[in-house]
Amino acid sequence: MSRTPVPRPTPHQFPRFDSVDEERTHIKQRMAAAFRLFDRFGFNEGVAGHLTARDPEHPELFWVNPFGLSFGLIRASDLILCNHDGEVVEGDWPVNRAAFVIHSQVHQARPDVQAAAHTHSPHGRAFSTLGRLLSPLTQDSCAFYRDHTLFDDFTGVVLDIEEGKRLAHALGGAKACILRNHGLLTVGQSVDEAAWWFITLERTCHVQLMAEAAGTPIAIDDDNAALTYSQVGIPVAGWFSFQPLYDKIVADQPDLLD
Ligand SMILES: [Zn+2]
Repeated sequence: MSRTPVPRPTPHQFPRFDSVDEERTHIKQRMAAAFRLFDRFGFNEGVAGHLTARDPEHPELFWVNPFGLSFGLIRASDLILCNHDGEVVEGDWPVNRAAFVIHSQVHQARPDVQAAAHTHSPHGRAFSTLGRLLSPLTQDSCAFYRDHTLFDDFTGVVLDIEEGKRLAHALGGAKACILRNHGLLTVGQSVDEAAWWFITLERTCHVQLMAEAAGTPIAIDDDNAALTYSQVGIPVAGWFSFQPLYDKIVADQPDLLD
């Protein structure tokens, strides 16, 4: 019996666009795929969590998930467009004020960043309560070696612009920030990169928690941690690592592209 052939992935090329419309569609589909993956990996906690991406034509505007819509149901066409005053300029759903406060300040402070991700994923949240940075315990951990920070403060849900500014200040020039008693934040030059750093940061927290629960882990020495960072911690490595996950989630849940 014959079946409809499923398109097979082809070798990945860094995308180039002929128009902003094409780039916008790409960004929104990548975001929808990231949300489906975040759902698959259990990063959702009720209505908490957001992923934003700057609009390619209007960099003062950003795309974000609708407040109250499950990560697991988000399609590209469901994303809403917000300005830096927290107003929804395209889309029917409301925006989570915490999403606007955190992401608007990060996007303003970091013109190099296209996308930012934040959720209350369980292992990141657990590690965040320790109030310290990660150690370079594994090859994968080295993606964050000297490239993540701690927001050593917690004053309730981030609803105040000043707290958003302090959070962006704590992030500095890094790719990731551990928000004490709260969760994780990652940024990237592409949606793919920010999403991959988030996924691997959550797993890095998980691995460190397991290793420290089992004994006294041996950290990688500084020279080798720095070398490994230069291999696995650079933007193109983050972008590339996301591609097989994107292919798989699109094959499993093609409606996300709509
Ligand atoms: Zn949060």
